[in-house]
Formats: sequence, structure tokens, C-alpha cells
Amino acid sequence: MSSRSTAAATPMMAQYLAIKAEAGDGALLFYRMGDFFELFFDDAVKAADALDIALTKRGQHAGEDIPMCGVPVHSAESYLARLIARGFRVAIAEQTEDPAEAKKRGSKSVVRREIVRVVTPGTLTEEALLDARESNYLAALAEAGGKEALAWCDLSTGAFTTMALADSERSAQLARLSPSELLVPEDADLEGWPLTPLPKSDFDSVRAEARLKVRFAIGTLDALGDFSRAELAAAGALLAYVEATQLSAGARLRPPAQARTGAHMAIDSATRDSLEITRTQKGQRAGSLLACIDETKTAGGARLLAEDLGAPLTDAAEIALRLDLVAAFEAGPSVRDRLRDALKAVPDLERALGRLAAGRGNPRDLGLIRDGLFAAENIRTALAKARLLGPPPILAELLAAIGPTGELTAALANALVAEPGVSATEGGFVAEGHDAALDEHRSLARDARQHIVALETEYRQQTGVTALKIKHNNVLGYFIEVTAKHADALMAADSGFAHRQTLASAVRFNSEALAELARKITQAQSRALQMEAEYFQALREQVLAAAEMIERTAAALARLDVAASHAHLAAQRAWVRPQVGDGQAFCIEGGRHPVVEAATAAGQFVANDCDLGRTQHVWLVTGPNMAGKSTFLRQNALIAILAQAGAFVPATRAEIGVVDRLFSRVGASDNLAEGRSTFMVEMVETAAILNQATERSLIILDEVGRGTSTYDGLAIAWAVLEAVHDQLRARCLFASHYHELTGLAERLKQLELATVRVREWKGALVFLHEVIRGAADKSYGLAVARLAGLPDPTVARAAEVLAKLETRRAETGGIAAGLEGLPLFSANATPSEEPADKLRDRLSEIAADELTPRAALDLIYELKRLVADGD
Ligand code: ADP
Ligand code: MG
Repeated sequence: MSSRSTAAATPMMAQYLAIKAEAGDGALLFYRMGDFFELFFDDAVKAADALDIALTKRGQHAGEDIPMCGVPVHSAESYLARLIARGFRVAIAEQTEDPAEAKKRGSKSVVRREIVRVVTPGTLTEEALLDARESNYLAALAEAGGKEALAWCDLSTGAFTTMALADSERSAQLARLSPSELLVPEDADLEGWPLTPLPKSDFDSVRAEARLKVRFAIGTLDALGDFSRAELAAAGALLAYVEATQLSAGARLRPPAQARTGAHMAIDSATRDSLEITRTQKGQRAGSLLACIDETKTAGGARLLAEDLGAPLTDAAEIALRLDLVAAFEAGPSVRDRLRDALKAVPDLERALGRLAAGRGNPRDLGLIRDGLFAAENIRTALAKARLLGPPPILAELLAAIGPTGELTAALANALVAEPGVSATEGGFVAEGHDAALDEHRSLARDARQHIVALETEYRQQTGVTALKIKHNNVLGYFIEVTAKHADALMAADSGFAHRQTLASAVRFNSEALAELARKITQAQSRALQMEAEYFQALREQVLAAAEMIERTAAALARLDVAASHAHLAAQRAWVRPQVGDGQAFCIEGGRHPVVEAATAAGQFVANDCDLGRTQHVWLVTGPNMAGKSTFLRQNALIAILAQAGAFVPATRAEIGVVDRLFSRVGASDNLAEGRSTFMVEMVETAAILNQATERSLIILDEVGRGTSTYDGLAIAWAVLEAVHDQLRARCLFASHYHELTGLAERLKQLELATVRVREWKGALVFLHEVIRGAADKSYGLAVARLAGLPDPTVARAAEVLAKLETRRAETGGIAAGLEGLPLFSANATPSEEPADKLRDRLSEIAADELTPRAALDLIYELKRLVADGD
């Protein structure tokens, strides 16, 4: 595009090309022309294809047609949403002066246009482009002095955080944030995230420091925290990008807060996937742990809950604070119900504020702030008076964080109508009676209209033309219209009417009285609109001046919402408060899997205990397929997450020593997610656990080693189990259908054997889903195979092989030896009694040399019949 010459271009095209060169090839250019954003050249071709809209052309450039397509400004957001979802970035060039101004410079001059913003996935603030219940993070990853750091922000709410990364912590943190856009230096070697490479100079920590100081108007950064060079570099690059994409729009960012390393349970992305914490493996919210426990009433609460679940705490005292609040609401059902009811009236304060700050807000957003603050005030009053059992200190703190909203709410309530619209320029949002001058202009406009009606009646009488009408259009303004056959009466020189326009069926006139009236109306209207626009700006500024209070209030409401959600859930489903301490305990009584239980018929889910104490920190869970091993493993991991996120848990009792890192791995062939079920991936991930787990970690290993042949798989499972037991000393649940592994219990002293009970009844398996101490007495693989519909002869053959296997084991007395030289695939394994093979018999009888062609043909028919009968 930059190669296109501007020499022969029309003035408008020359302006377009200059702006396009500025936007660069990485972004589509939305070029504002009146009521449309137009796209030209390659941009038009790409956008027309992506949006499925018509590709037209407009004029010529360098002797060729210029491809063009456009979207109406009023519905631009939905088109933007689709383009962003398809991976495009969009630069928006607006008209930055009144066309009338441009005309003053000469009839051919072009209206001034400038890029006002570049829309990218990580910098969205529009309601229509975001999911209200999810955060939208823009992140930057930087390296300085051999250390890595992340900075991230959500422009829709203004949150801004930095974090120094410990070794190998990067992927877990990125997995937690799941950024919509990740800024990296152009030479970074990274994959798997939506990367936006930037020049290395953007990541310079010295420049970053200067940039941060200017942005937040502070002399030194010390007040904000003790930032590492890598943190500064990441924060600086992020800020530079925000400024470069937001341009004249002034997105709001709070000063960066430092996240403490180790403050949260580290959960890598494989674990997140496998446990389906905030999304299922297919990427959906529905079916995840989050969706299953989300009883929040506000968008802010929903976002906070997702954040909490994604980043469970590791500080027992901090966890206890959250749990205190849940406990208070759990014990006070009527207070809780009233709170949840009141929360329904709380709109998305944070994002309304974000839009207003970014210059993309409208009167409706002012209304949302008013309603939200009003509801917040009510909630504070009600909760301050509520009689809660031992009101926890954190409640008082949260209530103190709300408001004071008085002045702002009053200003908004006085000025605005009940439901302000979405346009700041079309007026109608300032309440009647708020401003006498404004009311006067409005009534003038209204009265003038009545005068027009009166004038129309007068002219009808005067001319005797009853069909005479006074009309209005955008080109002529007000005019008098009669049909052609009545025109003569008005054409007379002394009629007082001045001819304006003759159409096929009508003739239009003006009169002095009408012109005077029209002027009054227009003036009154435009004055009223101007006054309303001024009100909007003034109120917006008043809101922004109170931004800190609004954010604080919104944060407190979100925390109350989350606590009430947990309490409601606990009451509904009989969940209990977990005891979270600093020890090594992991003792769950009557534990359930929240998601599976919700999907199981009421009362059908079997609760199970789990006790990974100091003495027995590894459990080996065996049992046939479909017994419930995976469910048991995951429910315990989910309980740890819930507890440390500050929620009650699905159990009758839970005592948990803080988990610093959580790992969950599912054997390759058990992993249903497509594309990653390779044995290699499984081994790489298992290796990561062995390298990163500590004594305080919780490890869930489900059928590890299954993705390969029996020998390898068993050997790997064996080795991993030994390593976890002997070296890591981490708490671990290990499930396997290889009941051969149970032999390990003799050697590994801190290994507890558990099994999921099944019963064989009349040759069929009955799953009891009950976890008991001990080993599975056998694999029950054949019964499961039959259940799955494997043909009978195959099951019979498998039974035979199994019998051989077990005899040999009994003879040699060892597992490994038992596996040695197994006749699994050997040809001489005696076949069981097979049905007589008539086809083979018949074929062997044939004397081929003696057959005539005719007999041979008959024989073929006969053989075919044999085959058909045999089926
Ligand atoms: P495994 O890992 O042993 O093959 P799963 O954990 O996948 O078995 O469980 C198989 C099915 O059994 C699950 O989909 C679930 O429907 C049911 N199930 C598992 N555990 C329980 C339980 N505790 N109570 C009731 N049903 C269960
Ligand atoms: Mg399983």
C-alpha cells in the first residue's frame, strides 16, 4: 500500500493514502466519510470477504478501479467485533473538523481526518465487543538482567499489574491471565499466545521509567513499589502500546500494582485444561468449574470470581478472611437473600467508568454510574444494620470502601432522566425542570411547532387550498407545499409566497413568516442540544474526578457478590467451610465432584474420603475403567482450588495444608482433547512436574504412561510413582488401571493403596463408585470390554491370554517376570474352538486343473453362497 503513489490522486485519495501509510499494513483502515466508515484497496477486499459485505468501487487510481466497501457508523461496533474476532486490527480515522470549516478553505478542500484509535483485541472497551463476565487482558512480557516479568492491564476497567517471574513460571502465569494480546519484543521466541511483536526499544527499562512517571504524574516510582528492571520494561512497553493505540481517546489506567510472586497457587496451562477450571477443554465456559459455581449477580462479581478461581491464594490468613465473609453470609440467609436481591440492581460500574474515561461513554453510562452508586449506598446501609453472626472485620472494611457517593449521585440524579439514551449529541437525557434555560429553549422549539400548525391553517384559509401543507426536510428546511394544480394561486406576485422548487406533482414555497419561525425553531433546538452536550461533558468530568471512589465501590461490591454467591451455593448444596492451614494435611471427608455431581441425578453421586497425610502422602488408586478414579482425583484437586480461592467446598469436612503448586496430568490416551494426545506431550508434561513440584504441591496423575504399549507404560508409571514418593515428597493421587502397580506398596512405605469398588453380578459389572483402602482384586478389563460392546469371540480370546498371563505370574512370582515374554501376539497361541470353516474345506477340495470354464464359474457362485451363509 505504501508503494501507491499519491501523485495522480484526487485530494481525498491523497489524504487517504497518507493516513493509510501511517496506519501501516498491519491494520485495516476505517476511513470516516459522513455516515460510513469506508475501506479501500486491499483493505476493502479483505474486509468485504471477512464481513461478507458487498465489494464495490469508487473512482480510479493509477488507471485502475479502486475497490471499496463500507460499514455504517451507527452499526460499526458489530462489524468491528467480527473483524477483531477474525484476527484483524482496525485503525479508525475520524473527521476531526466540521465539513463547513473545510469548505471555508476552498470548495475542493478535504475535511481533516486523523487516526483517533487503533482497535486491537487487547485494548477493547466497548460493551458490544466484550463479554461482561470476563476480564480482557492486554499483557506484555519483558526480559532484563536475566529476569523475566509480566505486566498486564484491562483497559475496560483500568486495572494494571506487574509481576516479576520466577524461573519457569511464565507459562503458568500466562495460562492464568489468558491474555487477548501479548506484547513481546520482536525477537522473542515464544509460541501459543496471541502475540503482538514490538520493536525492542519499546522494552527499554529506562525509557519505561520516564514514561510511567509522566503518565501517573509522579516524581519517583518508589511510592508504587520496588519494581525490577524487567517489570519496568514490561510496564513501559504496555503503556507505550496503550498510548499508541488509544491516541486521542484517553483510556484510564490505574498506577501499576505489584503482584507478589508466590501469592497464588501456581497452576500451569495443562492443569487448567485438564481440570476445566474456567473453561472446558473445548474452550467453553459452560461445563467448567466456574460455570458450575457462579451464582453471582453482577458482571463485576462474575469477573472477580473467575479471577479468584484462576488464582487461588497461598496465604492461609488471607484465605481465612475471605472465608469469614462467606461464613457470615452462609449463617445469615435472610441478610444474604436481601443482599443478592439488591446486587441485581448494580450495573457494571467499572466498565461504564472505563468507557467514559476512554471518551467512548454516553449518557446511558452516566445513568449506570448513578444507579450503581445508589444501589451501593443502599447495600452499605442495609449491611451496616444487618445482624450477622460475629460480623467479620473484612465486612466493615468493605463497607467503609463504599462511597461516599452522596454528591455525585445527587448531581447525576438531578440532571438525568430516568433512562438516558446512548447518544450524547441527540439530547433528551437532561431531565425537565433541571435547568430553566434549557427548558425554555425546549419549550420554544415545541411552541414554535405549534405556531407552524397555526400558520398552516392560516395559509389554507388565505389561499383556499385545503391540501396546503407545511413540511420539513433536511435540504430545504421548512417549506409550504401544494399540488401542481393549486400552484398558480401562490405564484401570484402579491401572494406573499416565494417559489422555491417545482417537482412533478408538487410545488414548494417559502414565506417570510415561515422563515422567521423556522429560524427560531432551529436556534432553540440547537441551543438546547448544545446545552445538553455541555451537561454531558460536565457530568462526565464529575464522574472521572470521582473515579477512585467508583473503583473502590465497585471492587467492594464485587467482593460482596462473590462471597454471597459462595454462601448461597454452600447453603443450597451443603458445602462446608474448609480449614486451610500451613501444614501438610489433605484430609477430605465426604468429598464430591461439583461438576459431575451437578450432572448426576440427585442423591446418586457417591461421596468419598481422601487423606493424604504426612505419613501416607501418595495414594495409588486402582480399579477398572469407568469405576470413578478420574472423578475422585479431580474432585480433590477442585476442592483444593475452591478452598484456596476462598470458597466453601463440596465435602462434609475438609482440612487442607496450603498447596503452592497444583499439577494435574492425564495419560495421553485418556486425554480426549484433540491434537495433544501424544505420548511425547505427556512425557514432557510429566517431566515438568518432576522438576517443579515441592513438598507443598499437590499432584494428580491419571493413567500416566497409558499412551504407549503395556511394557513402557507400566515402567513409566512405576518410575514416576517412585520419584514422587522418594524425591518430591509431594502429596499425590495416582490413578491407574494397571493393578500390577499395587505391588509397589510393599516397597514404598508412604504409599497408600485405594481402589474403587465394583461388584460382578451375573457376569456384569456394577460400579459402586466407592473409594476404599486396598487394591483392586483384578483389572476387570474383560468385563468392561464386554460392557463396551467388544464382540464375544474377542472377549473370549482375551480371557484366554489373561489366564496364561496369570499362570505365568504365579509360576515366576513377580510382576516384571510375569510380563516377560508374554505370548500376547505370538502366532502359536492355541486358538479356541473355532466354528467349522466350510469355505476353507471346500477350497481345499478343489482340483483346479480339472475345472472347465463353466464349472469354474459355478464354483465361484457356490463359494459366494458359502460366504453368505457363514455370515
Ligand atoms: P475411571 O477414571 O475410573 O475410568 P471416571 O472417573 O471417568 O472413571 O468415571 C466414570 C463415570 O462414572 C463418570 O462419568 C461418572 O458419571 C460416574 N461416576 C464417577 N464417580 C462417581 C461417583 N462418586 N458417584 C457417582 N457416579 C460417579
Ligand atoms: Mg479415568
